[in-house]
Amino acid sequence: MHERKEEGITIDFFESVYHGEPPWDIGHPQKEYIQLEHAGEIVGSVLDVGCGTGENALYLAAQGHDVWGIDFAPTAIQKAQEKAAQRHLAATFLVLNVLELHTVERTFDTVIDSGLFHSLSHEERPLFVDNLATVIRRGGTYFMLCFSELTPVPDLSTLKDFMPNLSELKPEDYARLRVTQAEIKASFQDGWRINYIRPATLEARLGPNEVHGWLSSISKD
Ligand code: SAH
Repeated sequence: MHERKEEGITIDFFESVYHGEPPWDIGHPQKEYIQLEHAGEIVGSVLDVGCGTGENALYLAAQGHDVWGIDFAPTAIQKAQEKAAQRHLAATFLVLNVLELHTVERTFDTVIDSGLFHSLSHEERPLFVDNLATVIRRGGTYFMLCFSELTPVPDLSTLKDFMPNLSELKPEDYARLRVTQAEIKASFQDGWRINYIRPATLEARLGPNEVHGWLSSISKD
């Protein structure tokens, strides 16, 4: 019998969205990350996985952190590098698939994720978590901001203006974006400690402008 491999949302999809203005690309950092920085929870060096055009990474660089951002969409990384140059901020941005994080060959004190994990397929998530373990030091913390199952399925008519190629997304792509706490716990069992999973909002440039999500703090043993 033919087994169908479940794919994540493709590079091509993200790449063509970044030629326009993705709804999540809000031009400033997510407030959840500003609050974490103010609370002193973001410590030391920082890796932003799926950094997009770099607003969260650049915010943390401006606060004095040694920051790297990686994303598999070259256009997003180019925009992030241009912003860093314009703002005179030192941050390193690289085109890389998060399933190849082990090739980075350095570790970070903190890893942040704003909307990456929820876009990965169910098959990719465990591979991502294994790769994540290679770039985070023992005792270091991964912060993950994702959509939750409490978020209504988006009204596609409002999204089409922002993402002309929206029809490329499959129903299962939408379904996966709405992550449950149980899924997060199941993904981070061995070798990880979940400090908290708390309700959070993700800001976006469409109605509703804030989407219900989870903010997780997960440390590596
Ligand atoms: N963190 C950014 C972008 C969120 S959208 C922000 O808050 O604005 C999710 C991002 O993850 C996109 O930029 C997409 O290109 C990237 N992405 C998705 N799957 C990826 C993968 N396998 N490897 C690297 N980046 C990926």
